[in-house]
Amino acid sequence: METDKYISRLVEENVYHISDYRDDSFYLIIGENKAILFDTGMGTGDLKKYIGSLTNKDVEVVISHAHWDHIMQVNQFEKVYMNHKDIEIIKIFKMDIKYDHFLDIKDGDILDIGGRKLEVIEVPGHTPGSIVLLDNKYKLLFSGDAIGAGHTWMQLPGCLPLSSYLESLHKLAKRSNEFEKIYNGHLAQRNGIPVPREYLFDLIKAVEKVISGELMGEPYPYGNFGGLYVNYGMATLVYNPQNIK
Ligand SMILES: [Zn+2]
Repeated sequence: METDKYISRLVEENVYHISDYRDDSFYLIIGENKAILFDTGMGTGDLKKYIGSLTNKDVEVVISHAHWDHIMQVNQFEKVYMNHKDIEIIKIFKMDIKYDHFLDIKDGDILDIGGRKLEVIEVPGHTPGSIVLLDNKYKLLFSGDAIGAGHTWMQLPGCLPLSSYLESLHKLAKRSNEFEKIYNGHLAQRNGIPVPREYLFDLIKAVEKVISGELMGEPYPYGNFGGLYVNYGMATLVYNPQNIK
């Protein structure tokens, strides 16, 4: 379904990938009783109306993390879940977002949308309140920027130390037999294809090797975003050398 503001395609059974023609990705996951919109992109259109053209179910929004390219149209929606640790990110970047009504969402919370359950797993690192949604029935992980979104950015203000991120990745790895595909927050940077579970293991190696000093990054070559860049296997990582431990 294509308009001048949004484009979507069905990528899995009852799962739409949506973008607003930039490289951001958000997802509509439709259950028998309601639908979850995972992130709200960075566009300026009538997203609520667009989503209404894809499903007639009630829509609740879940925010993966509070960066500008995932949350900008959130104020069009009434029921919004976000891990409250990311309110700090809204403040750091002085975003024009009203968050007082946001409902907190935490590790282990289950979103039962009917015929499909999404489990919240906190993966702090890229932001303190980053979460992913695990759909173990269909073996899918919806990850925002927590893992697999282009180059994993850990160099921004508000990112946790790499050592904390490593703990998060190890925690997620314990659940890795429950998913096969990772639908991340910037799918276009991966040619529109979800990254395989094995990406997680390469990313863990990359982070470990940076922490141990075995891998040393080069200045990030893609744009003026700061940080040092390394890659290991499928994984790429941008980090701040002053924020390792
Ligand atoms: Zn982000």
